[in-house]
Amino acid sequence: MNNLLKLSALELKNAISRGDTTATEALEAYLHEISVQDGALRAYNEVLVDEARDQARRIDDMRKIGESPGLLAGIPIAIKNNLCTTWGRTTCSSKMLANFRAPYTATAVARIRQAGAVVLGKTNMDEFAMGSSTENSAHGASVNPWDLSRVPGGSSGGSASAVAGSLCSAALGSDTGGSIRQPAALCGIVGLKPTYGRVSRYGLVAYGSSLDQIGPMTRDVADCAAVMNVIAGHDPADATSLDRPVPDYLANLDEPIKGLRIGLPREFLSDALDPEIHRAIENAVEVYRSLGAEVKEVSLPHSRIDSGAGGELSSFAVACYYIVATAEASSNLARYDGVHYGHRTERDAADIIDLYSRSRAEGFGDEVKRRIMLGTYVLSSGYYDAYYLKALKVRRLIKNDFDEAFETCDILLCPTTPSPAFKMNEKTADPLEMYLADIYTISVNLAGVPAISIPVGLSSRNLPIGMQLIGGVFREDVVLRAARMFEKASGICRLTPPPLGRDAE
Ligand code: GLN
Repeated sequence: MNNLLKLSALELKNAISRGDTTATEALEAYLHEISVQDGALRAYNEVLVDEARDQARRIDDMRKIGESPGLLAGIPIAIKNNLCTTWGRTTCSSKMLANFRAPYTATAVARIRQAGAVVLGKTNMDEFAMGSSTENSAHGASVNPWDLSRVPGGSSGGSASAVAGSLCSAALGSDTGGSIRQPAALCGIVGLKPTYGRVSRYGLVAYGSSLDQIGPMTRDVADCAAVMNVIAGHDPADATSLDRPVPDYLANLDEPIKGLRIGLPREFLSDALDPEIHRAIENAVEVYRSLGAEVKEVSLPHSRIDSGAGGELSSFAVACYYIVATAEASSNLARYDGVHYGHRTERDAADIIDLYSRSRAEGFGDEVKRRIMLGTYVLSSGYYDAYYLKALKVRRLIKNDFDEAFETCDILLCPTTPSPAFKMNEKTADPLEMYLADIYTISVNLAGVPAISIPVGLSSRNLPIGMQLIGGVFREDVVLRAARMFEKASGICRLTPPPLGRDAE
């Protein structure tokens, strides 16, 4: 493997600005790696070679004439395929948008380019970001570089697989119920879901608009902070982006937080949790204790996880999420009818309704159809109060629990996922099983607060385990510093998967 691929994004940027290498050389190293490995990982839907080369050349030219090319100068970054770009296609990994060329570029993507990043391509995802394994993609599933028989998680699975497999230096994902953090945990990388409103959603294809956020997926915490410095901030084009100053997330990253107050949500450390993950989380708590953190139990009663008589799990948060998210999705996805947007049937349609219905039947995959039907049902006049309105009330109760916990804690610490990466096809037959993959991440989106997933170790099968650190509203700075404290003290950082082609079992 080319040594440039082993550098973190910030190290690569520094190597380029010192003149040790060039943006073009770094890009070619990544393009070569993609050509060799992406056949196995299937992380990309589209590699945007020409545009990437143009951008890398621009960065190198700017350096030659002494101009500063920006904070992410020359860093090859992959973009989840639900972020609009005027070059290449934005398919959301759906047949519905197979040929969609966006008329504008997402603000987050425009910002990283402005900062000198080189956009490598569009990564695979669960169709319209609905799923936890990337198996719901019209392009076929992506693969976990740690074990080629396992999923990378989802829905930002292509981005996670690309970062972990050294097919990009960093990536952008989106997170509605866990889609950045869960794949980050399963692939052994860092992923941050920012506070709702911290990063502009302009140009992010909408799934659940009151939950969606764009965020970084990186090899380490410093890279994550660097990408946040670039993408965070107000955008007049997104009315839900908040006009509040953005701190420099890199500036104090290495300063430990004195007397860090950590809350352990009792509800998230129950028997439902895989014993190896439980142990890894306990070890992480010990690391923080040894650094002088104050650790105490807290309660998030409305996020609790119940196990039924047969061991089946349930949670208010998951139930609430699948009402709110599907309701919003059914409305957001109404525009894909073959006329306004998207795939149009080639068969003769009797009338306009028939045209819509045939186009939608052909263009959407099964999971997307299931969500649209669920969402339409919970919003229908007869059931609105019983489901949608009730879910909004539960959402408030969940948020209140978080507000209360943050009165006495700086961060909450818990697992990111109930188990390490699962096998391909293991959960595809039972949608509910798949929904439970997000049991620890979903309430964070409902509450709108920021959370990071960082690696805390490996399972006995050599699969990554992730830890989630949740912060109060707009406290990405605290979350990042706490994550960095762990990375430094534990030495668990930049985990490298075994060479490709070897399964862990
Ligand atoms: N797995 C969850 C879902 O399917 C979350 C997806 C996401 O965050 N985009 O809705």
